[in-house]
Amino acid sequence: MNSPQYAFFEGEIVPIAQAKVSVMTHALHYGTAAFGGLRGYWNSDQRQLYVFRPLDHFRRFRHSAGLILSEVLYNPEQLLDIVLELLEMEGYEQDIYVRPLVYKSYQGVGVKLHDMPTELTIFALPFGNYMGHDGGLSLTVSSWRRVDDNAIPARGKIAGAYVNSALAKTEAALDGYDDALVLDQNGHISEGSAANFFMIRNGVAITPPVYENLLEGITRRTCITLLTEELGVEVVERSIDRSEVYCAEEAFLCGTAVQVGAVTSVDHRKVGDGEIGPIVSCLSDLFYNIVRGRNEKYNHWLQPVYHGEPASKHHLTP
Ligand code: PMP
Repeated sequence: MNSPQYAFFEGEIVPIAQAKVSVMTHALHYGTAAFGGLRGYWNSDQRQLYVFRPLDHFRRFRHSAGLILSEVLYNPEQLLDIVLELLEMEGYEQDIYVRPLVYKSYQGVGVKLHDMPTELTIFALPFGNYMGHDGGLSLTVSSWRRVDDNAIPARGKIAGAYVNSALAKTEAALDGYDDALVLDQNGHISEGSAANFFMIRNGVAITPPVYENLLEGITRRTCITLLTEELGVEVVERSIDRSEVYCAEEAFLCGTAVQVGAVTSVDHRKVGDGEIGPIVSCLSDLFYNIVRGRNEKYNHWLQPVYHGEPASKHHLTP
């Protein structure tokens, strides 16, 4: 099965073919939508599908919606229930990606955010690796700058702001790189096109702080916890200069799509010795075991889909 059969659309789960919007939809013209992105991991031994940190994702989803004056009428537990019902109907036995989207559904012309109806849709599709990164990722520093908080806030997933990410990603891809590092207006590293960034120097993990125009990533938070609590690696949140990355011992991108992706070169300079280093290697092993339900200590980050007890049993009313 390679495409979704169903979507949550206008208040109910319908066949995906019925989940359609008009060409006049406001969000289509002005990017007035906000979205989320969650992964579900299939564990074939346990025959279980685990959704990773769904309530954290839905909390951020609601904040993202709030940035564009859109209200999500369901709380995180109710959103999880919708996802569980959808996934049970899909019956996936493979890794998947869940996409919730709130959008301004007003059909007409006029640039604004207020006094317009908002709709919610959610669907889930099969999803493997986002970037092939077995041997490590090669990055370049983008010629595009990250949208500033006072232009379009990057801390939420606002649809229109993703043109910024797409410009950076496509420039990097057409130039032969896996992804880009995007600088903020002050010339510091903010993040990748759709993933947060960490580098290791002198054994310390360094990542830009959330006020430097980056998405408040759930995987970023996960990595901070695992680095400090499991690997005993100190994590410092501070600005990173472009040239400092050229001197890093190790580096990685992290996010729901890329997961934990070791970076082995930046602008044709090797990171460390150009191989995946020990800290990133341990972190990614830990991460991939946790998300697939192979580390009981972190089962509280996982929501089982099959035979699991939903948070509040399928109440779809707001
Ligand atoms: N930054 C951007 C711009 C992203 O789109 C994403 C993917 N959602 C991330 C970072 C990583 O965030 P998360 O770990 O919550 O998926």
